[in-house]
Amino acid sequence: MSLLAARMNILVAVASLVSDVKSQRLMCDVHRSLVSEGADISTPDTNTMTAPQPSNAPSSSSRRAWLLDRTEALCRADTTTGREDHGLPLLRSLLTELDAKVELQQVTPKRHNVLATWGEPKLLFSTHLDTVPPFLPPRRAGDLLSGRGTCDAKGQIVTQLATIQELLSRGHTDLGWLGVVGEETDSIGAAAADDLAPQLAKCIAVINGEPTENKLATGQRGSLQLQLSTKGVAAHSGLPELGHSAIWPMLEWVQRLRELHSDVDPDLGSEIWNLGKLEGGTAPNVIPASAEARLFVRSLPNSTFEERARQLAPEEGRLDLISFTPPEVFDRIPGFEHAVVPFGSDAPRLRQLIGGKKVALCGPGTIKVAHTLDEHITGADMEQGFGMLTALATTLLEGSPG
Ligand SMILES: [Zn+2]
Repeated sequence: MSLLAARMNILVAVASLVSDVKSQRLMCDVHRSLVSEGADISTPDTNTMTAPQPSNAPSSSSRRAWLLDRTEALCRADTTTGREDHGLPLLRSLLTELDAKVELQQVTPKRHNVLATWGEPKLLFSTHLDTVPPFLPPRRAGDLLSGRGTCDAKGQIVTQLATIQELLSRGHTDLGWLGVVGEETDSIGAAAADDLAPQLAKCIAVINGEPTENKLATGQRGSLQLQLSTKGVAAHSGLPELGHSAIWPMLEWVQRLRELHSDVDPDLGSEIWNLGKLEGGTAPNVIPASAEARLFVRSLPNSTFEERARQLAPEEGRLDLISFTPPEVFDRIPGFEHAVVPFGSDAPRLRQLIGGKKVALCGPGTIKVAHTLDEHITGADMEQGFGMLTALATTLLEGSPG
């Protein structure tokens, strides 16, 4: 349903943004328009709205401060999935600084993807605008920035924008940046972005930002969601011979699955699965008439997990496929460190958005703290990410490291 709604996207608010004065005026306009819609938005700190250091005059500390200041400012807005537009005013201000042409793509009411372009993009940077709950306001301690979204993915946004600024200062043109809504739940934003494909027809590669410790993901495993169900016959627990438990065969089924060996792919690692939900029965004194288990499989190419699970089903068992996203192996890009990553992302969809061309999934920060109460990133992480992204972008644009 929501995907259908997304197909009715309207491109709105095309703004070519030039001067600081103009951007301040725009900020006020955006602020007013969102306030009029009842949105809870944070006011940007205009004192920090200056361009990053150009490549020939950077100091490490000033670049880190630039990266940390902007990430902290973006993190002040609660953009938990569904509330992404609350971060729009400051984001637009940042894009204004970089003289971007900005388009907002409505995905659902009050939720917008943001496409910024400089010329006709040959290289697209992208990440997501939403965060997982709960909102945790940013806290700064020296080089350490903690709080929701610091590494997943507002630190990605800022590091990518600093890289774009650097590329522009080196004379590159034809770049794009796309922020999508809903990556943390149903990827509705990345799906809706299909309608932006005409503006991205010249793209040769997309860099998708997620916290990978500045390494390039070798690919990502598929996501296979299965539901196991068993049926029994309810009876008084004092007369079990009159009933038939649905829970015992379920537990035995799950145990047989646990005893399966797991396949390993050289690029993607092991096929793993999680028993994330298990329920059954109605009361302690009733023989349970039904049981259900939900499994999430991080699947490898040519996975036989579903087939094996079916073969191991008890007589009273039933297996249903809930959803499946296939695994994908990404191109290796020589000269960069690669690593297996344990999570899924919008990267495969974004690759389709640019006609199946090259995709790199990488960025500063670590997935080990993403989605936790201890989410954080450091200025050093982002500065290293800035260097890696600049080199990667240069390699992709010119075929040689920058
Ligand atoms: Zn993320």
